[in-house]
Amino acid sequence: MNQLSYVHQHQSAWNNYLSQLDRVAPYLGELIDQLDTLKRPKRALIVNVPVEMDDGTIQHFEGFRVQHSLTRGPGKGGVRYHPCVDLNEVMALSAWMTIKCAAIDLPFGGAKGGVRVDPSALSERELERLTRRYTAEINNVIGPQKDIPAPDVGTNAQVMAWMMDTYSMNAGTTVTGVVTGKPVHLGGSLGRSKATGRGVFITGTEIAKKIQLDITQAKVCVQGFGNVGSEAAFLFAQAGAKVIGIQDHSATLYQENGIDIGALQQYQLIHGKIQGYSTSDEIEAPQFWQISAEIFIPAALENVITVDIAEKIQTQLILEGSNGPTLAEADDILAKRQITLVPDVICNAGGVTVSYFEWVQDLASFFWSEDEINQRMDRIMRHAITAVWEKATAKNCSLRTAAYIVACERILIARKERGTYPG
Ligand code: NAD
Repeated sequence: MNQLSYVHQHQSAWNNYLSQLDRVAPYLGELIDQLDTLKRPKRALIVNVPVEMDDGTIQHFEGFRVQHSLTRGPGKGGVRYHPCVDLNEVMALSAWMTIKCAAIDLPFGGAKGGVRVDPSALSERELERLTRRYTAEINNVIGPQKDIPAPDVGTNAQVMAWMMDTYSMNAGTTVTGVVTGKPVHLGGSLGRSKATGRGVFITGTEIAKKIQLDITQAKVCVQGFGNVGSEAAFLFAQAGAKVIGIQDHSATLYQENGIDIGALQQYQLIHGKIQGYSTSDEIEAPQFWQISAEIFIPAALENVITVDIAEKIQTQLILEGSNGPTLAEADDILAKRQITLVPDVICNAGGVTVSYFEWVQDLASFFWSEDEINQRMDRIMRHAITAVWEKATAKNCSLRTAAYIVACERILIARKERGTYPG
């Protein structure tokens, strides 16, 4: 996807979210009179982030922090560094966090942040200065009891360490619980970096059982080979599936007999991309969606499954590793074609679940083993996906609508019980 088409597509991310809400409305009974609260963010902050570059010049970057809902607890959501970040996108991503936290039943609201920047064009020192100034600019609205950022596209554990340090310097005391996804030495949780990909795998295998799809015989295609996509690909391959297609920003790989995911991870670690790993197996980007495979995992950016792709894709199961990869109209087509889709708000919730564990561990200053974390996460994810499957069966609706019903009921009941300040 070139950058222009990405901009064009992601401008509708918020509209896409609103369309998803519209689909849930008929199922909400008397709670519908509360639904408007989810149609606007509670708070949206736009900040200017001036950064002194290595050559001594000052560059200005636009940054955002949006708190979509704080009804069920502090805001929770990542920080994205990408050249196409804008308010519309951050609003949509924050709203999906609200739905996600409620669908999984974590005691959080939804938030998201971002800076419009190409992080790969910055030196390490420039990235640190950008992160510290951005954190200082949003300092007043974040905090362990207010809003807890985490990594997203273009950010990582090091960025979280800088955010935590900057917030702590301003507070005059070390506040580890202000962000999650930190390095383990700084109060990060074991298992966090692999949690989202692991959650995609867990929800995928649970739903595969329900639709009688044998994972060990399945062919899998993954778009995005970053934090989420590479771990999901690895776990499916380990379970016996054949990962035959992988696409990242640089190239699309197709190997009929299955790609060696461990080897590709090593290559990606060194080169930062998959291009060049096996040049003879590279195909054109649009061909990715034409591959026939039982499972497709979008794990890159939003709005990639368009109406056209939904009409043609040859698959049985789509696992939304990324946030908002499917357009609302495409959803309807997939449902008509009886292609099962596990929605982002459940499918990729493994990350926020372990983020929740990290926050709990930080607040208690008591840390769990990786086994404990994985077991707790597996339990929460399996419980959540089963509840959504049962709701979908009871209401005869898609898994996305079912997840939204479950989430909206929890949020709107809480909203109603809290009442409207000042009363
Ligand atoms: P990442 O930055 O680690 O990886 C992103 C991947 O997408 C990279 O492989 C990149 O090359 C690829 N990509 C970028 N542009 C592309 C394009 N135009 N076409 C094909 N591939 C492209 O990011 P991540 O952490 O893996 O996140 C991926 C998605 O998952 C995002 O939507 C993010 O919001 C979502 N998500 C991430 C987490 C998490 O814990 N990291 C949790 C929940 C949801």
